[in-house]
Amino acid sequence: MNVRESEIMAQALSQHGSVQTMNMQDADIIILNTCSIRAKAEHKLMSMLGSLRKIKKNKPSLKICVAGCVAQQEGERLVEKMPHVDLVVGTQNIYNIDTLLDHLKKSRVIATDLINDYTIPQFIPTLSKKILKNGLPSPANQQFSRFVTIMQGCNNYCSYCVVPYTRGREISRKYNDILDEVKVLVHSGVKEITLLGQNVNSYGQTNKVKDHGPQANFSDLLHGTSQVKGLKRLRFTTSNPKDLTDDLIECFRDIDILCPQFHLPVQSGSNQILKKMNRNYTIETYLEQIETLREYRPDICITTDMIIGFPGETDEDFEQTMDLLNTVKFHGSFSFKYSDRPGTKSAQFADKIEEDIKSKRLQRFQKRQDEISLEWNQHFVGQKKELIITAVTQDSLSGRTITNHIVHIFKNEHQIKIGDFCTVRIIYGGPHSLKGELVEQPIVL
Ligand code: SAH
Ligand code: SF4
Repeated sequence: MNVRESEIMAQALSQHGSVQTMNMQDADIIILNTCSIRAKAEHKLMSMLGSLRKIKKNKPSLKICVAGCVAQQEGERLVEKMPHVDLVVGTQNIYNIDTLLDHLKKSRVIATDLINDYTIPQFIPTLSKKILKNGLPSPANQQFSRFVTIMQGCNNYCSYCVVPYTRGREISRKYNDILDEVKVLVHSGVKEITLLGQNVNSYGQTNKVKDHGPQANFSDLLHGTSQVKGLKRLRFTTSNPKDLTDDLIECFRDIDILCPQFHLPVQSGSNQILKKMNRNYTIETYLEQIETLREYRPDICITTDMIIGFPGETDEDFEQTMDLLNTVKFHGSFSFKYSDRPGTKSAQFADKIEEDIKSKRLQRFQKRQDEISLEWNQHFVGQKKELIITAVTQDSLSGRTITNHIVHIFKNEHQIKIGDFCTVRIIYGGPHSLKGELVEQPIVL
């Protein structure tokens, strides 16, 4: 999501005449787009701002801007701690970054209003077709694969999570605006679209504004998007199992271009912990969902997020998390030590877990996950896979499968370009990637 929002800011600024540079010393404006989901992400920002202080000393005209969740969360406090910051742009103000920068000529700006209002008809502006068509600041190798934001905010209030506070209420974008954006992107050569939101499964459920267009839920949106001619791969992220409906699971059976890859964060293997997390599902329902998904789409790759050491997590709770990992055999997972976030309910819980216990549990979880991911990767050896090419050098190619696995090919004799599709046979499965060889395509006369 942050990648997409950085793109949006870059698009807004280039429309205003700015040119992107990869060299910080050349920049007149530096924007740090931030995440505050865990304390670690916030620490990174502070150390980066420390380094920028020196650059600004030598170039006082430099404008330093902090955007995103930390900006939203800290507001004024951020400039108190870091007085060389000129502009603080909250999560819902990024769309106006160009105007906000104009105001900087007069004074420092802090823009962190959250518009928690369901009646706003078009919350996220549709970017002009010209901007979308010209692609604009996005790495060249990503032009064939783009993100489209479908909603903003979250209403779930999982007890550990800062998102409802930093991103505000859940608001879905209009169905027709989303489809228009997808059509323009596909028309300009994009082949893969990922629909984005904090909780995409509840798309269309919260703000039923009058002129919202067709009353669609998320599976309607997937069906609609899949009809866009020329689109080859469709993905989405992120989902909450509590809103995973049967009709959404059926999409994996019924929509050809919906990639068989599902990131379904479970967070813990213990019902007791899930309850304290306010997740509103049980391990039993989660396992049923996985079973049906695998029945409908046997090649589906399931990944997850796991929080290790949530307050009150006993040895037994953690063993249940390990059991879940061994039962589901996730293709991969993002696992994190629990970290207190400001304003959240769990930050007030008394039964915190000691750091070294969290670290040991995390290590054990990740070691087992690595073994399982390796087993999956080895299982692919001998299979044919279709790749979309993401990188090309003189003597190698890399690409991604429909399940989003990276495959390297150490040969490039075929004039293949970034964004092309080709078929490979997997010849090696390592812990984090696969190697393949090109399979000759039949010539169609
Ligand atoms: N909307 C998604 C998650 C978005 S946040 C969902 O409902 O699952 C991305 C991930 O960060 C979460 O899945 C969670 O595993 C992790 N995370 C969020 N808050 C955290 C915290 N306080 N400590 C550790 N990890 C956290
Ligand atoms: Fe955070 Fe996801 Fe829960 Fe929303 S659903 S509160 S984003 S973890």
